[in-house]
Amino acid sequence: MPARNILVINCGSSSIKFALVREGRDDFILHGLAERLGANGASLRWQGETDEQPQTLELPGADHKAALARLLPLVAQAAQGKLHAIGHRVVHGGERFTQASRLTDEVLSAIRETSPLAPLHNPANLVGIDAAMALYPDLPHIAVFDTAFHQSLPERAYRYAIPEPLYREQHVRRYGFHGTSHRYVSHKAAEMSGLAVGDSYWLSAHLGNGSSTCAIANGQSRDTSMGLTPLEGLMMGTRSGDVDPNLHSHLARTLGWSLEKIDHMLNHDSGLLGLSGLSNDMRTLEHAREQGHANAALAIEVFCYRLAKSLASLTCALPRLDGIIFTGGIGENSALVRNLTVKHLHVLNLELDGEANARCVRGVGGPIHLAGHPRVLVIPTNEEKQIALDTLAVLD
Ligand code: ADP
Repeated sequence: MPARNILVINCGSSSIKFALVREGRDDFILHGLAERLGANGASLRWQGETDEQPQTLELPGADHKAALARLLPLVAQAAQGKLHAIGHRVVHGGERFTQASRLTDEVLSAIRETSPLAPLHNPANLVGIDAAMALYPDLPHIAVFDTAFHQSLPERAYRYAIPEPLYREQHVRRYGFHGTSHRYVSHKAAEMSGLAVGDSYWLSAHLGNGSSTCAIANGQSRDTSMGLTPLEGLMMGTRSGDVDPNLHSHLARTLGWSLEKIDHMLNHDSGLLGLSGLSNDMRTLEHAREQGHANAALAIEVFCYRLAKSLASLTCALPRLDGIIFTGGIGENSALVRNLTVKHLHVLNLELDGEANARCVRGVGGPIHLAGHPRVLVIPTNEEKQIALDTLAVLD
């Protein structure tokens, strides 16, 4: 059978990321981004495999449907008319979805029912799905869920210590996110280390604007740092990560803040941005730290200490550790963050090779540990490829 072409679509509230993936290849035939949808200045940017520069197009007044109508012909042309399926990223699949699923009316209504658990993400994902299905009704459309990989968590890891009816009736439990990335890099780590996926144990740190850690045993997620929502766990770009659960009532009592205001503060004004008072962007903070900006240095220090603490705590989920994986924009590029984090993990006997660590930037991955010490790997993630692989698995 000739290699198949899968279009991967990731719809946010005002953007669509897309990539055309050919079976058996790591790079994309075409990829791009439509942004500021539904607002002034909507635009589409894309780059084909033979294009030296990305191309851009203004899309005045475009919404998701209009942007898809404009980008799908580009995809069809790049695929030379041979598009085999569309894989859609869906953030929350609740407890219902343990793997990717073909989008039927029943699956669509289950995703809709899960929306209260991800009010910012699932409705945006559904807008993209509806628009793509209307434009390509005859193609198979597959939903790939961020939460599905973590459905293998044991109950001791996914339950909160709160009254049981809140779990049974309201589905309040830990779900975990970034599953596509944690799965992809743990498979790559096993491949890179000559170990079988089914007999290997990893801790992965996906560090982007959103960040999470995961303990993976024999190809299955056993615990992860994010919970009911993507706010729990690590400190992130603008998200606080773990805080005292009494913070809400404290701020409401002492400052009279509303739930919405507290929610906004924890999700949008906290993390690297909140602590540094400068930026949510790690590159900017590293630069400021070098110039002597004390709060930028503190933000990076807290980020790394909390990350190390999360990784150390996740060792409880594994009987053995074959290695630690760094991925995501920060994990793949910041030698400083990797270095400061590993320094806190002395008790695990981790030690980095400074040169190898410095070499791993801009898509270059590989082992960065000192010989004779436990593995530490930098592995560029490729969520689009994993979504395409999951889509192909459903087709087969
Ligand atoms: P998202 O979660 O939005 O997909 P990314 O995975 O692209 O985010 O990660 C974005 C983060 O990666 C930003 O904080 C950015 O500063 C950081 N980053 C990218 N390149 C570098 C670099 N060379 N050094 C340090 N941080 C970097």
